[in-house]
Amino acid sequence: MSRYSFARVALHAISGHRRWHPAIRAPEPRTSYDVIIVGGGGHGLATAYFLARLHGIRRVAVLERSVIGHGNSGRNTQVTRSDYYHLPSARFYDRSLKLYEGLARELNYNIMFSQRGKIALAHGPHELEILRRTANAILMNGVDTEMLSVDELYRLVPALNRSPRFPIAGAAVQWRGGICRHDAVVWGFARAASQLGVDIIQNCEVLAFRKRGDAITGVDTTRGSISAPSICLSVAGHSSELARKVGLELPLTSMALQAMVTEPVKPLLDQVLISTLIHAYISQTDRGEIVIGGAADGYTSYAQRGGLPVMEANARAAIELLPRLSRLRIMRQWAGIVDITPDTSPLMGSTPVRGLYINCGWGTGGFKAIPAGGETMAYTLAHGHAHPLIEPFSLERFERGALIDEAAASGVAH
Ligand SMILES: Cc1cc2nc3c(=O)[nH]c(=O)nc-3n(C[C@H](O)[C@H](O)[C@H](O)COP(=O)(O)OP(=O)(O)OC[C@H]3O[C@@H](n4cnc5c(N)ncnc54)[C@H](O)[C@@H]3O)c2cc1C
Repeated sequence: MSRYSFARVALHAISGHRRWHPAIRAPEPRTSYDVIIVGGGGHGLATAYFLARLHGIRRVAVLERSVIGHGNSGRNTQVTRSDYYHLPSARFYDRSLKLYEGLARELNYNIMFSQRGKIALAHGPHELEILRRTANAILMNGVDTEMLSVDELYRLVPALNRSPRFPIAGAAVQWRGGICRHDAVVWGFARAASQLGVDIIQNCEVLAFRKRGDAITGVDTTRGSISAPSICLSVAGHSSELARKVGLELPLTSMALQAMVTEPVKPLLDQVLISTLIHAYISQTDRGEIVIGGAADGYTSYAQRGGLPVMEANARAAIELLPRLSRLRIMRQWAGIVDITPDTSPLMGSTPVRGLYINCGWGTGGFKAIPAGGETMAYTLAHGHAHPLIEPFSLERFERGALIDEAAASGVAH
């Protein structure tokens, strides 16, 4: 497969773009691999890529029941940032943000990464005090963040409501935060992994697991049985159901998280805006659409679709923040099934089943974690022990009570 470049695009333009090769191979599944990754979302594909790229393990299959990116990795609101409160989270997410900063070059793929700043609003003096304390903790974690006065905020976001129902007292901004085109991250990792010899097998659902004693030996799929000594589950909202098939109970709740976009308009909002109290997060895509997200549905569900009550709540919050949005039409609304742990931190590493690894519990915030998730899980699979950055996120933290409570980090209720 050839490298993408300006010269190549120009060359193909001459032939009417009819001679491009498929970006990803479509191989038939083999009967055995060194590693099987279940789930062709960002995390599964990034893990496969780093296994091949950093550890020379290329007999790797990514098994995806639908098409790659059809899960949460292609449904999220694209926010990338690393301003987390607890040190283990800050270290992990900042590593991910640093990888994002060089990812387009690494993958030779335009991921449309835009570090436009992510602003968290404080409504009233009490919230401002908490935001200040959080900002101090983030700075002490070695991650950038900055407090903004009300005047600075309104200069940055002129469209922001001057007199919302809950008056704005200040804000915190992480300038390295922003958005990144989600499909491109999936496709970029898939193309690069495929180029290194990883087999990405779509329309291949894992139905059951094979075990010998306490060790995993393979999977049964809709396209036959495949064996491997190491298997990693990266199936987000379907993790608990799939793990149960191998006798493993995971502390996860699956819920739908919804989002929506308006029709495209001229530039209106340069940053990502989050309000915990009014309860929405908003950004504008390069195409001009306004992306709006809010709270997760308050109940367990596997229904991957949006609903009117959430659309209404999100629209109400968005208009309260940016009144000019009131005359825009909603173009699309959708949902993804997110996998939420009791402390809203991820679950990564080995399991009591020998050879079985998990990379899940990303809940509503795992898009920003894709590069570091892939890098650290690849290390863990290659070495058989957890990468130091993800040791705190092991399954057995729930036995020890060593929870990393990041419930406040998402900015809206999840
Ligand atoms: C509306 C919404 C907004 C979000 N906004 C943000 C945000 O702004 N920033 C952020 O950081 N995160 C955000 N997230 C969360 C983020 O999208 C996820 O945490 C992340 O994409 C998870 O990636 P993944 O690869 O683990 O899972 P996924 O991308 O969901 O991939 C899992 C894959 O596994 C496949 N699968 C399931 N079962 C099987 C099986 N039995 N066999 C084979 N394949 C199977 C699925 O088809 C799916 O493709 C949001 C999520 C949603 C839904």
